[in-house]
Formats: sequence, structure tokens, C-alpha cells
Amino acid sequence: MDKPRFVVVGGGLVGSMVAALLGREGYQVEVIERRGDPRQDAMESGRSINLAISARGLNALAQLAVGDDFLSLGVPLYRRAIHAPDGAMSYQPYGKAGQAINSFSRGELNRALIVSAGRSANVSLVFNRRCTDIDVQTGRVTHVDAATGADERVSTGVIVGADGAFSVVRGALQKREHQDYSQDYLAHGYKELFIPARPDGSAALERNAMHIWPRGRFMMMAMANPDATFTVTLYLPMTGPNGFDQLNTPEAVQAFFVREFPDAVPLMPTLIEDFFGNKTGAMVTVRTWPWRAGDRAVLIGDAAHAIVPFYGQGANAGFEDCLEFIESLRRQPGDLGAALARYQERRKPNTDAIADLALANFNEMRDHVASARFLWRKRFEHLLHLVIPGFIPLYPMISFSLIPYAEARAKAERQNRVIRWTGWALAAVAALAVWAGLRR
Ligand SMILES: Cc1cc2nc3c(=O)[nH]c(=O)nc-3n(C[C@H](O)[C@H](O)[C@H](O)COP(=O)(O)OP(=O)(O)OC[C@H]3O[C@@H](n4cnc5c(N)ncnc54)[C@H](O)[C@@H]3O)c2cc1C
Repeated sequence: MDKPRFVVVGGGLVGSMVAALLGREGYQVEVIERRGDPRQDAMESGRSINLAISARGLNALAQLAVGDDFLSLGVPLYRRAIHAPDGAMSYQPYGKAGQAINSFSRGELNRALIVSAGRSANVSLVFNRRCTDIDVQTGRVTHVDAATGADERVSTGVIVGADGAFSVVRGALQKREHQDYSQDYLAHGYKELFIPARPDGSAALERNAMHIWPRGRFMMMAMANPDATFTVTLYLPMTGPNGFDQLNTPEAVQAFFVREFPDAVPLMPTLIEDFFGNKTGAMVTVRTWPWRAGDRAVLIGDAAHAIVPFYGQGANAGFEDCLEFIESLRRQPGDLGAALARYQERRKPNTDAIADLALANFNEMRDHVASARFLWRKRFEHLLHLVIPGFIPLYPMISFSLIPYAEARAKAERQNRVIRWTGWALAAVAALAVWAGLRR
């Protein structure tokens, strides 16, 4: 069988990664991307927007030999820095000494992946073209000029839908029978804000920590950019008390920040401008099945499994998809349908698991990280991690290992049962000791 030709719809993080990998494997690939060429265009926003890449993402980047260059650009974050309402700080390490998640500029990472894909003579990159429809039967991808909507053209091949959470490719698959689909919006939204460097060029907060302001029903986070600035993300309910809909005047925003994040306010000179200038983003969990239509079309990245951002794993999971996709093609060289079946069956349980964990982590970050009980538990888990070989708390398993997400979740549940029973046993021993003491 001749090697198939692929048309990748979407040249974001995952689309450019999969195109680069396919090109390296000797497949002909065409990438259709709605935005401009990041190698020529300035980044869409003048300011950095960052994302955390951990072991899974770094592993995929290393396969493209992009990893080494990028490690030097990323800012390692070794711990959480928790900001209490009174300004007091506490810290929680993410893992063992030296283990860190890495804050990267999203735009720079995308640019590097596009450069990597473009280096292959097998990959052609087409920018400023918006896919409007696909035909699964014929493998036709219809696309138009993204700015004008005119100049309709068609590309043909095996279609890889890497066009994000609101995927046009997935939309076309949904029109077929037996395509399961669910989309769940969080009642919270997010807004990106900014902490500039100090006048002397130094960073206004500790750079090697993920800063979190947990406030129960809402929270704020800040992650360092390579240039000593911080991208801040505010997560609030869309409506109701402390909701985005209530913060509709500069005075209301200022009063809210002074009340809830007093230590951050002096660091955010453009708070009001940013708050009203930046859009409020929505967060959605998307699940769909199957991910493939025979041997003609397949979904990857957010198009297959958009998740909420609270584990910092969306892109990491998408990069893992790419590796599994390539591995499946290698294992089934003459049978594309079997390769796509293997890929989706191996990925789906894992992306379902990280979707659930990401939702659960929202409660942990906005609320529990500030509670004494949670902190003691984390310390105990950390101690067990240091002294018992094989005991790995959930966060390090997700962020610092390549253990499949579903397996990591199951292992963490087993470990939790052991911790619970140990707690009960210790409490029983203590109660017995007290009782024996009283009888004496
Ligand atoms: C606030 C926030 C914070 C996050 N933080 C992290 C983090 O710290 N770590 C992490 O791993 N993940 C994080 N994520 C998740 C991460 O952003 C996504 O999982 C990742 O971007 C998915 O990559 P993708 O290529 O699948 O989709 P996208 O990044 O959405 O890329 C899709 C691409 O397809 C293009 N496209 C869309 N429609 C069309 C069309 N019709 N025709 C042609 N092209 C099209 C788009 O222009 C885009 O380039 C975060 C998400 C959010 C919202």
C-alpha cells in the first residue's frame, strides 16, 4: 500500500507537532491553518501568554529535538506559592527536589513547532486559510481565505482534525450516525491579566513558583514569562456573587481586587485596562467517540478531548496523542484503519481520566490548597514519596512521569485507600493508648 497523504486541519500546538512527526516518518502532509504564519507575523497579542509543559510534553518535544532549545527558554516552577488574603505566603513543592513544571511562551512554542514542521520537505504549510467543511467519504477538505471568506479551494488526503476545542472536523463527524458527543461548560470563566517587571528589570514575584491566590469559589494564578513579567489568570464564576457579570465598572474591579488580592494590586499597574481590554474566556470539557471515521479522518488534541486547564495538561495530553498516533502508524504499516483504531483505543481512556482529574483539581486549587488538613495530607504524601520506593502522589505521576493518565489515577486511588486506612489505624492506636493511660 502506498503511504497515505495527510491533510492536517489546524497548525496550533498539536497540529504542528503531528505534522512535523508525520513528515519525519516520510508521509506527505499539508497543514491548513486559519491564522497567519507565526514565523513572519508578530504574535497576536503584544504580551506573552504562557502555558506549563511537563514531562509528557517535554518527552514529545525531545522526539523532535525541539526539547533542548526549549528547556532553555522555559521557566522552571518548582513549587506552589500560596497567597493568603492577609498577604501571608506558604509553599508546597510540586515533587522531589529538582522536579519542575515549565512555563513557556505559547506563541514561541507554536512558532518553534511550525519551524520544525517546515524543515521537512514532506510538509507543506498553508496559512490564512480557514477550513469550512470536510467530506469524510472523499477525504476532501474545503478551505477559504480566512480574512475574506472567498477563494474556495480543496485539499485531499487522510484528514487529521487538529483544529481545537470548536473543531470543524469534529462537527462534520458529528453529522454521522453513532458519533457520541458531549460539551460541558464550566460555570466559571477566565481572564488574562499582567504583572510587569519592576523598573529595574527584576521580577515582581518569585519566578520559580506557580503563584496561587485561592479564595474558595474563585482564584487567581500567576506564572512567570521568560522576560521577568508574569501572566496572571483570574478564574471567577461567570455570574452571581464575585462573578464577572458583577465586575462591570472600574470601581467595582478595583474594590474587588483590593478586598481579595491586596498584595497583588500594587504589582498590577494596568489592572483596569487589562480587565476591560481582555476578553473573558470560557472553559469547556469536550468528549466524543469515535475519534476516527474509518481510515479517512481522525481527531487529535483539543478537537478530540478539550479539558479545563487546572492540571496544566491539555497541550501535554495533545502532544502524547501525537506520539501514540505515530507509534500506531509504525505498528500497522499497511493498514491505516487498524492504526487509527489502535490510536483512539489507547488514548481515549487516558484523556477521559485527565479530563476528570482536571475538573477535580479546580476544587483543589481554588479551595483546598489553603486548608490546614490539605497541607498536612500533602506533607504526609510528600514524606511517603521520599521514603517509600514506588509511592508517587498523583500530581508528580501526572506531571513528572509518563505513566498513562488512567493508570496514574487508579494507582492514586489505591494509595489513597492505604493512607486512609493508615490514618484510621494510627487514630485507633492513639485512642487505645489514651484509654490505657486513663485506666492506670
Ligand atoms: C486558560 C488556559 C490555560 C491553559 N494552560 C495550559 C497549560 O498550562 N498546560 C497545558 O498543557 N495546556 C494548557 N491549556 C490547554 C492548551 O491550551 C490546549 O490543550 C492546547 O492549546 C491544544 O492544542 P490544539 O493544537 O489541539 O488546539 P489549539 O491550540 O486550539 O489549536 C487549534 C489550531 O487550529 C486552528 N483552527 C481552528 N479552526 C480552524 C479552521 N476551521 N481551519 C483552519 N484552522 C483552524 C487554530 O487557529 C489553531 O491554530 C490551557 C488552556 C487554557 C484555556
